[in-house]
Amino acid sequence: MIPQRTLNRAIHCGGIGLHSGKKIELTLYPAAENSGVTFIRSGQTVEIPAKSEFVVDTRLCTTLGRDGVTISTVEHLLSALAGLGVDNARIEVGGGEIPIMDGSAAPFVFLIQCAGIREQKAAKKVIRILRKVAIEDGDKHCALRPASGFRVSYLLDYDHPLLNNRHVSIDFSRQAYTREVSRARTFGFLHEIEALQKAGLALGGSLENAIGLDSYRVVNEGGLRYQDECVRHKILDTLGDLSLAGLPIVGAFEGARTGHACNHQLVEALLADPSAYRVESLVRSPGDREEVAQPFAASAAAAL
Ligand SMILES: [Zn+2]
Repeated sequence: MIPQRTLNRAIHCGGIGLHSGKKIELTLYPAAENSGVTFIRSGQTVEIPAKSEFVVDTRLCTTLGRDGVTISTVEHLLSALAGLGVDNARIEVGGGEIPIMDGSAAPFVFLIQCAGIREQKAAKKVIRILRKVAIEDGDKHCALRPASGFRVSYLLDYDHPLLNNRHVSIDFSRQAYTREVSRARTFGFLHEIEALQKAGLALGGSLENAIGLDSYRVVNEGGLRYQDECVRHKILDTLGDLSLAGLPIVGAFEGARTGHACNHQLVEALLADPSAYRVESLVRSPGDREEVAQPFAASAAAAL
């Protein structure tokens, strides 16, 4: 049996909100088996499960909401939890958005690793994809297909010399999330960031928490962390967005030119079609290959 996992203890950090530019406190707590990931705003009682039905906005970032309470920019933290194979956690946040940290998931990976990960008694549950589900919107498309492990392939194709026709594929049963994906930062074009800030958005955005691009190049002094960092960030985002299905997915994701909105539509389309998936417990039988039993084998091993 592959057990469910939660944090070993509570852990706290603080950071700047990308949209508000204000300091925000964040605390991660262990949570009971089968409770999944839930968000709560400090001092409030409304619990918002990290599930697709609570997505209220997908412009710029993924925002969850319930009964008038919203929490934005959940995707990088959710990506870190998914990438490390954490099934259950309670997340308390002191403001309306998860702090942006350095624009990647690496600070959340560090936080979770500092808290430690504990195995629980119940078997891990997954959503196994049984047949293809796809979303198409002009030249954007994304799909989930049956596969024995968990793979994400992404094509980034902007009209920009660094971002045209860039393709990366990660097989999470063999490649570690922490090493291959978690450090990839979000990115933005300088003229778009300026326009957003004039509109009172992305007030916390800076080269401390994003890759900045002008028409030709990366403007950050330190350059890139991965040669194809922007595509890897899209894969990072995808993990966070797919985790809103409520359980880890066993299957293969392919995306081209898509973002949070398309990912959300894909998860909704999947959950709306019970013939496209099956919820099952990860019980390994003799003779199973490791990657069949543990779609996050490489990352899960690295995290413990
Ligand atoms: Zn992102």
